[in-house]
Amino acid sequence: MRLCRFGESRLGLVQGSKVTDVTAALDLLPAYRYPLPGYDLLIANLEKVTARIREIASSSQVLALESLRLLSPVANPGKIIAAPVNYAKHMSEVASDSQLSAGNPSHTITIQKAGLFLKANSALVGAGEGIALRHLDRRNDHEVELAVIIGKRANNVRAKDALDYVAGYSIGLDITIRGSEDRSFRKSPDSYMVLGPWLVTADEVPNPGELNLSIVLNGETKQDSNTRFMTLGVAELIEMSSSFYTLHPGDIIITGTPEGVSPIVPGDTIVAAIETIGSMEVKVRAAEV
Ligand code: MN
Repeated sequence: MRLCRFGESRLGLVQGSKVTDVTAALDLLPAYRYPLPGYDLLIANLEKVTARIREIASSSQVLALESLRLLSPVANPGKIIAAPVNYAKHMSEVASDSQLSAGNPSHTITIQKAGLFLKANSALVGAGEGIALRHLDRRNDHEVELAVIIGKRANNVRAKDALDYVAGYSIGLDITIRGSEDRSFRKSPDSYMVLGPWLVTADEVPNPGELNLSIVLNGETKQDSNTRFMTLGVAELIEMSSSFYTLHPGDIIITGTPEGVSPIVPGDTIVAAIETIGSMEVKVRAAEV
C-alpha cells in the first residue's frame, strides 16, 4: 500500500495517478491529551489504519495525484537518523574534493567509525513543499537516499531480525550546506529533509538492498546508483542505531547517498527516484529572510 499526506493534513491512498482521500481512517487513532507521545501516531497504528482504508476506499473521493501538494508521509517522527559516508564511491568523491570535505577529517572515515547523526525534525517537509535554501553564498548540495520508516519499538535489534521492524520506505533528500560545522548543524535548516512522495509499506519492498536510486537535476542525471552499494544495509543500520537508542514508530533512517552529489540553487528542479517506491519532483527556492 502507498500512503501519502497532502493538502491540509489529509491522508491519501495512492494508486497510479489517482489518490483516494482516506482521511476518515484517521478517526480510529487514539485521542491524547498533553503531553503527546514521542512517536508518530499514524505509523504506530498503521495496521489498523490500513485495514480501515481497505474498508472505506471504494466509497471515498478520488483525486488526481498531480493536483495535490504532497506533505511528508510521516508527520511527527520522534527522530531522524542519518548515515554518513555509506557508499564507498561517495566517500571517495568527498575525500578528493576539498569543497565537499571542507577540511573536516570526520568526512572521510568509514561509517563504522563515524557512527550516525541526527537531523532536526523541524527540517522535515514533503515533496510539494519544496526546498528553501539558506546561506546562498555557500555550496548547498542534493543527496538522494533510501528512507526507512520504523514501524515498532526497536531496542538492541539484531540485523537478522531488523527488517521485521520496518513499516515502509520512502525517498529521502538529505539537503546539505557544505562546510566545516557538525553535520547535524549543516543538514538541519527548515526543509533540508524532504521525505516522499509517499510511504510504501514494507510488504511491497521485499529487498531494500537492491533498488536503483537516482537524482535528475534540471533534466541532467547527477546521481544514479543502487542500494546494493551501501556499506551498511538497512538491517545493519537498524542494528547499529538501536544499539545506541530505542527506535520508535515513525522514526526515520536515511541510509546515505551514493556518488554524484552536486550543488543546487534557487530555481532548480530535482526529480528523485527510487525503484519500486516511485519518483518525486521537488522545487528549489531561496528561503525568505
Ligand atoms: Mn546524506
